[in-house]
Amino acid sequence: MTVNAAGPRRLYLFQLSTATVPTPKRAIEMVSGCYLIETGDGKHILIDSGLSDDFESPPAAPPVENEQNVLEHLAALGLHPDDIDILVCSHFDVDHAGYHDAFTKAELIVQRKHYEQARSGHPRYAGARVHWDQPALQYRLIDGDYELAPGVTLLETSGHAPGHQSVLVRLPQTGPVLLAIDAVVMQFLFNPDRVPWPIDDNEEQLRASTRKLLDLVEREHVGLVVFGHDGAQWKTLKKAPEYYD
Ligand SMILES: [Zn+2]
Repeated sequence: MTVNAAGPRRLYLFQLSTATVPTPKRAIEMVSGCYLIETGDGKHILIDSGLSDDFESPPAAPPVENEQNVLEHLAALGLHPDDIDILVCSHFDVDHAGYHDAFTKAELIVQRKHYEQARSGHPRYAGARVHWDQPALQYRLIDGDYELAPGVTLLETSGHAPGHQSVLVRLPQTGPVLLAIDAVVMQFLFNPDRVPWPIDDNEEQLRASTRKLLDLVEREHVGLVVFGHDGAQWKTLKKAPEYYD
């Protein structure tokens, strides 16, 4: 495999918290996470920023454990928020956009239709709005799939939310890794006839996006797909300070 000097060199998975969520059938282990890509030319691309410490979860919500926020994860790697060059915003749900305002030196990349829906005041994105809607933040709005850097492709995967983004990262050793994020939150949903997950916005788009990712995995021979909130899967993955290279 040829290695582009500006391409991804390391992929870190930041596990931000875990929770055991009761469902009618069984309890499900859920995880919340975000991601850091280090490129061969020393750039840092962060993907999502997680739930902010000031967010008050509803009283009935299951207790959240093992909390370490994105800033603490970065500090553990010797990084400051100003070291982040690009922040990819999958979407503005509270558990994904809670620290955007810490990244004032970065360029923030979001799908135009997502940004516009959120800015229009959609209540779903109100929880973290104080963190993602700040004049100091430099947003770049994109439309559809987008080659962000050599070996880093943003994939428009609407359905969970309009303009949700997943990310394909091509690593020198591991090969292509797909970060599905909330397009596919759990491994058992990664099939062509999948059912939606609570709070998914549009079932038809969700299924189309899932099929798009299934096709991509086959076409690009993706060896690792990371699901957005799958606690059982995340137990098996390398997490920061370990990394995929
Ligand atoms: Zn989520």
